[in-house]
Amino acid sequence: MAGELILIVEDDVNSRKLARDVLHAKGYQTLEAETAEHGLVLAVERIPALVLMDIQLPGMNGIEALKALRSRPATASIPVIAVTASVMTKQQGEIIDAGFDAVERKPISVAGLLSKIRALLDRGPAQPA
Ligand code: MN
Repeated sequence: MAGELILIVEDDVNSRKLARDVLHAKGYQTLEAETAEHGLVLAVERIPALVLMDIQLPGMNGIEALKALRSRPATASIPVIAVTASVMTKQQGEIIDAGFDAVERKPISVAGLLSKIRALLDRGPAQPA
């Protein structure tokens, strides 16, 4: 069932609009933040069903933001998809090790992203490791 609230953390205006348009077309509701810091505030206030997290952000990056989400009981089990243009091997390793629920490469595949989102929402909250 669509209609879930999804938080988009993305500093690039075009990438943010694309994600918003794709999600709205599927019936999801969205919240948007241009920085990880603002995203963390929104996540605590609104408890979205899922977060799309850009990795390269001004200030705190997406990996640090994931750790912050996981460290707080209220947001620890929200599924988080990393969205990254990074082709750096070192950072790809960090992204995988950080514990994201899925990774979507930029430029995003609309069908691929929607299917990852749906699968995570249908799975329900992550089980404690
Ligand atoms: Mn970015």
